[in-house]
Order: sequence, then C-alpha cells, then structure tokens
Amino acid sequence: MPRSSETAFVALGANLGDARAALDAAFVALARLPGTALRAASSIYRTAPIDSSGPDYLNAVVWLDTQLAPRALLGALQRIERAHGRERSYRNAPRTLDLDLLLYGDRRIATRLLTVPHPRLHERAFVLRPLAEIAPRALIPGFGPIGGLLPRVAGQRIDKLAA
Ligand code: ATP
Ligand code: CA
Ligand code: CA
Repeated sequence: MPRSSETAFVALGANLGDARAALDAAFVALARLPGTALRAASSIYRTAPIDSSGPDYLNAVVWLDTQLAPRALLGALQRIERAHGRERSYRNAPRTLDLDLLLYGDRRIATRLLTVPHPRLHERAFVLRPLAEIAPRALIPGFGPIGGLLPRVAGQRIDKLAA
C-alpha cells in the first residue's frame, strides 16, 4: 500500500556562480522526486549573507507533497545539492545550492542527522518571508503561527525579486 503524502517545506539558497540558474534547476529536480509533487514555489528573494560570506544569496521556499519519509527526503535533497556541485567546505560557506528541510507535516524530529523544524528557521527572514508567502497560516511546531515570528525578523534586509 502506498504511503500517504505529507506536507513538507524546503528552503533553497544559492550564492555562488549563476545562483538563479541553480534555483531554477532545483525547482525542477524537486518536482521530479519520486512520490513527490511540487505544490507551490515562493518568489525568489535576495538577501545579504548573515553569518556567511560572499555575494548576496538568492532564497526561496517550496511546498512539496511527498510520500518520502523525512530521512529519505533529506537524502534526496543532499543528492540534488551534490548534483549542483556543492562543496562542503565549512558550515555557512558560500555554496552553489543549499536545500534545508524546514517542516515535515506537524512532526518534530531530533536525530543526529535531521532536526525538524529546521533549528534556525524561526530567526531567519530569508526563510520566514518566502515561507509566509506560500503558507501564510503555517504552524511551526514549538513556535506557533508563522505570523507571530515575522515581526522578530523585520529588521533583516530582504528584497523580493520581480517574477
Ligand atoms: P544551517 O543549518 O544553519 O542552515 P547549513 O545549511 O550551512 O547551515 P549544512 O552544512 O548544509 O548546514 O548541513 C549540515 C548538516 O545539517 C547536514 O549534514 C544535515 O545532516 C544536518 N541537518 C539537520 N537538520 C537538517 C534539516 N532540517 N535540513 C537540512 N539539513 C539538516
Ligand atoms: Ca542552510
Ligand atoms: Ca543545509
């Protein structure tokens, strides 16, 4: 019997090379994951690196309906990152493509390899703003409605790019 689908939100980020092309390719790759449908994609946003270096980041968030289990989905995200030539040099290093699993249904997961909700989701405008665009009533397990988190990141500069 097929697994039922779960709602998952994934953050995309890129700040090296042709970041726009990397995000566009990632949208396609995510939509092609087995047992997975791409339900919505946010606009693309531009943000200055915070604890990172290099050029501005381009960021977006997608809503997936997926039959992949959380750990399998993380593995699939990492394969897509690798296919885009990501080099894992050090944490927060500039990268061609970063895919983070933000939310998986209403689950809270804390394992060595996977923490959901993503542990820094609540403090990042570059995650919260695109997430709120496509899921304005999202509930963040442990934090509540996304609307309550947005004011806390209002001071972070982020620009929505024209479609
Ligand atoms: P940050 O986590 O602050 O956004 P980062 O994206 O640069 O930093 P990475 O080097 O991409 O961090 O990931 C480090 C590890 O984080 C990965 O090997 C992965 O196992 C783990 N990880 C834990 N929870 C998640 C999650 N929800 N999404 C993606 N990776 C996660
Ligand atoms: Ca990240
Ligand atoms: Ca990551």
